[in-house]
Amino acid sequence: MSKAWWMNGVPFSCQTDCGKCCDEPGGIVYLHPTDAKKMASHLGLTVEDWLERDCRQTLDGRYILKSDPITEVCIYLDANKKCVNYQARPTQCRSYPFWGENLRSVRSWSNTVEECPGLSSEDALIIDGESIKMRIIKDRDATRGFRQWPPYQR
Ligand code: SF4
Repeated sequence: MSKAWWMNGVPFSCQTDCGKCCDEPGGIVYLHPTDAKKMASHLGLTVEDWLERDCRQTLDGRYILKSDPITEVCIYLDANKKCVNYQARPTQCRSYPFWGENLRSVRSWSNTVEECPGLSSEDALIIDGESIKMRIIKDRDATRGFRQWPPYQR
């Protein structure tokens, strides 16, 4: 099997004060159980209380972050387009733009390059293929999500 094109590395540097990837009405952030633990701890809440306050479930039951009911943008994005919980941001937010769905075709990647100024900025540094692979795997695991808490009950 031929090596994926991105294994040679991709230039990227997240741009300060950008926030474009979070400022997407209707965007969905699936959550890994470790995201729930980290965010709840960061906010001084139990996981159950955090899920109740800041999350909702999709039609198939996976927990996702709530969006603002008017703008439909993530509830953690402030008026200055900054994440108010950046330190504890979920796996999918950390792994963007290197999501499997973005890298799966030339067309989806060119759409991602248009969306994300960090992929064409002059200060971009090469992200190596192994790091990209790790982000794809983490994004995939987060997308599987969880439907109950604790997540592994029978
Ligand atoms: S769109 Fe790209 S550059 Fe902008 S905040 Fe998101 S990852 Fe960073």
